[in-house]
Amino acid sequence: MIISMKRHASKDEIDAVVQRILEFGYKIHTIQGEERVVIGAVGIGDVTACLESLEAMPQVDKAVRISAPYKFVSKEFQPHKTVIRLENGAEIGGDDFIVMAGPCSVESETQILESARLAAEGGARVLRGGAFKPRTSPYDFQGMEEEGLRLLAKARDLTGLAIVTEVMSDNDVDLITRYADILQVGARNMQNFALLKSLGRCGKPILLKRGMSSTIKELLMSAEYIVAHGNSQVILCERGIRTFETATRNTCDISAVPVLRELTHLPVILDPSHAAGKRSLVPALCRAAVAVGADGLIVEVHPNPAKAVSDGAQSLDPAMYRNMMNDLKSWCALWKQSRLTETLAAV
Ligand code: PEP
Ligand code: MN
Repeated sequence: MIISMKRHASKDEIDAVVQRILEFGYKIHTIQGEERVVIGAVGIGDVTACLESLEAMPQVDKAVRISAPYKFVSKEFQPHKTVIRLENGAEIGGDDFIVMAGPCSVESETQILESARLAAEGGARVLRGGAFKPRTSPYDFQGMEEEGLRLLAKARDLTGLAIVTEVMSDNDVDLITRYADILQVGARNMQNFALLKSLGRCGKPILLKRGMSSTIKELLMSAEYIVAHGNSQVILCERGIRTFETATRNTCDISAVPVLRELTHLPVILDPSHAAGKRSLVPALCRAAVAVGADGLIVEVHPNPAKAVSDGAQSLDPAMYRNMMNDLKSWCALWKQSRLTETLAAV
């Protein structure tokens, strides 16, 4: 249920509503809007009786049953967009298209510092790089782990980029939280519910990638886990899904972006690298991300892709990255205009 209070309801009036909802056995989440308070109630209980009781309270404007199984991430719960502010000043979900760029894996100090310089010079605001790598084969490079995190932190100090890096296990959440600005949940872990619950308590923004065989509803349910456990700073990422097609590594479900924008207030970004699997396809998908109104991109870039220990074939080389970022400028100007129009229309 979502309960929208009357404008300027007093604290005592709101507390009385909260008390009534708790009596019916629901858990609550409250958001303080500019003009009114909205309360989300989740759990199992007598919805009809609870709604009737709440509607009888004069301080309640509307009390509605939500049919979607996710609530806190839904537009009904929060009509305005979530904006995630990073320490370096970048805002995801706001008025700028944000690019996150960097190698698939952190491989060495030289490699990550060079990547960071390249990413920053091109206009990215966030550096990506995996220190803990989910690899299909146990014999493949598994990541530099804490040493990789230290190198990422050094790259942040030198360039002012924020850091996004993957967390694979709930055992590593505290460690990675100490270094990263955004914790990435990879496609293979989208439904690792123990991990999602720990991330609800970590206090840092989460980049949640769509599982390769997951529906949009399942993605939103995973986001709901993180939010319901206390962390409302979630960024969703479309990274391609598995289909019968073999010409690309995955199939870029570009329509997931506008679908998610209709269903949720959370920021949505596109990962064209894992979607395509091939660097020549990446610039076109980057343009597509801007055109469909994504909030940003996460793209793999490597100073020397031929030598990359993972995902070299899909990583842009420095020249391609620079061209792609230059090419995006005029698209981003149009993006900004339409974002502004949307914001004005929402007021
Ligand atoms: C990655 O970002 O390098 C990665 C492993 O992505 P995904 O989880 O989308 O496969
Ligand atoms: Mn990768």
